[in-house]
Amino acid sequence: MGTAISPNQIDARVSDFIEKPRKMLIDGKWVNSVSGKTFPTYNPATGEVLAQIAEGDKQDVDIAVKAARKAFESGPWSKMSATQRSKLIWKLGDLLEQNVEQFALLETLDNGKPLAVARAADVPLAADLFRYMAGWANKLEGTTIPLSVPYTPKAKYLAYTLREPVGVIAQIIPWNFPLLMAAWKLGPALAAGNTIILKPAEQTPLTALLLGELIMEAGFPDGVVNIVPGYGETAGAALAAHDDVDKVAFTGSTEVGKLIVHAATGNLKKVTLELGGKSPNVVFKDADLDSAIAGSASAIFFNQGQTCCAGSRLFVERSAFDQVVEGVSAQAKKIKVGSGLEADTTMGPLVSDEQLRRVVKYMDIGMAEGARAMTGGKKIGEKVYFVEPTVLVDTKDDMKVVQEEIFGPVVVATPFDTPEELASRANNTVYGLAAGIWTKDLSKAHRTAAALRAGTVWINCFNIFDAALPFGGYKQSGWGREMGKDVLELYTQTKAVCTRI
Ligand code: NAP
Ligand code: MG
Repeated sequence: MGTAISPNQIDARVSDFIEKPRKMLIDGKWVNSVSGKTFPTYNPATGEVLAQIAEGDKQDVDIAVKAARKAFESGPWSKMSATQRSKLIWKLGDLLEQNVEQFALLETLDNGKPLAVARAADVPLAADLFRYMAGWANKLEGTTIPLSVPYTPKAKYLAYTLREPVGVIAQIIPWNFPLLMAAWKLGPALAAGNTIILKPAEQTPLTALLLGELIMEAGFPDGVVNIVPGYGETAGAALAAHDDVDKVAFTGSTEVGKLIVHAATGNLKKVTLELGGKSPNVVFKDADLDSAIAGSASAIFFNQGQTCCAGSRLFVERSAFDQVVEGVSAQAKKIKVGSGLEADTTMGPLVSDEQLRRVVKYMDIGMAEGARAMTGGKKIGEKVYFVEPTVLVDTKDDMKVVQEEIFGPVVVATPFDTPEELASRANNTVYGLAAGIWTKDLSKAHRTAAALRAGTVWINCFNIFDAALPFGGYKQSGWGREMGKDVLELYTQTKAVCTRI
């Protein structure tokens, strides 16, 4: 795929990529679906069909699982050293970095996010994730364990553990960070030596498929990574229920997460889940209010609010409430909503018509229940999928807009009086993905961090992601963690070996 190419060449490559129906990657080959069916993916800034994609279903999943099983049991992958695996994963990160522009453009076309964001965040974070995980491949060590078996006092034993891959992994991902979610899933699974069937979201399959080209270019053996695009109810459900899949790793809604758990019971495959959130973002009156205001706005409005850890419930200490809420509303008004391809756009469209309707419905319900929009509250004109950045006040904690994940640029703001009241109200949802705290008082910051039931707590910052920092949910926000050392535990299993010597 080369380096240093001009914008025109990038446009031409992306046009070439989406011109013909995209095939799926199974056993190292690009193939049509068995049914011959395709499905469309749309450009959310125009509502027009962007590309046609091979539509995988149960039959394709069966073939992909067989390929992954063969690659895991007897292919070259199963015989590779950890360092060889590491080199391949590192190379994939390099290839991704060399092709930032192409991936960023394709992501913007398919998902809608501003090109500058895709270029500065999604693609480099994905490349970085692969490199971080490449470093782990040859550092997954077992331990030696001293035994003192009481019923054979004279015998001696040598016991140790091995960290072995789980096997054939199904990975099902959402549409909000299509490439990055693929990287979060693939990187650690590959580092640990597993084989994979990846199902991208129906709304945004393109960058995962382009990544498939780089996976083959990097030299991963056939069948190690299979990519089967298709619908959740067919391809996704077939993967979650498949008897020869050893683990399913899912990112998406809590609702579908529960379906995955049920589907996995047939063969008791392992399950990890990264699910929804309704994350509290807490501003104390002693915070640096300028940075708290800017940070609270970006906590909710980043990625059109389509972020699982979005700071969607803003709690502000009462005496600072008006200033902070007016400040966040002023930031919201400054946001330039438009096509992600335009240079001055700071918020793109929502990903789909369905998502637009969902967000508008929530805003309407909120206002019917008595909430008031300080700013926003409506979709924008008749243009497709655009919605106003919205700040809702006068909410009560039991309202739908406060309890349920909207997954759009809508924040509910509410005052609080004491840290105790704050903690109990902030913890009062079924979710526990993330939280933000803004204060200059370090003791208060860490006491509040300890009191919040969330998998990630950001202090005087928000939405900081790093391949080394574990991410995942408390409560109904999920099982397990992505990234960091923690995720590798979940793609390996421990074998205890005990020898009489
Ligand atoms: P979703 O409907 O749960 O879909 C996620 C993935 O699951 C998609 O690939 C989807 O396929 C597939 N799927 C749907 N039904 C399925 C089934 N019955 N069996 C197996 N797979 C199935 O979620 P979404 O609308 O794409 O994404 C938004 C949600 O994801 C939000 O709730 C958000 O909080 C959550 N999310 C969480 C994280 C995190 O890290 N915690 C990250 C991103 C998003 P289709 O595309 O065909 O529907
Ligand atoms: Mg699309």
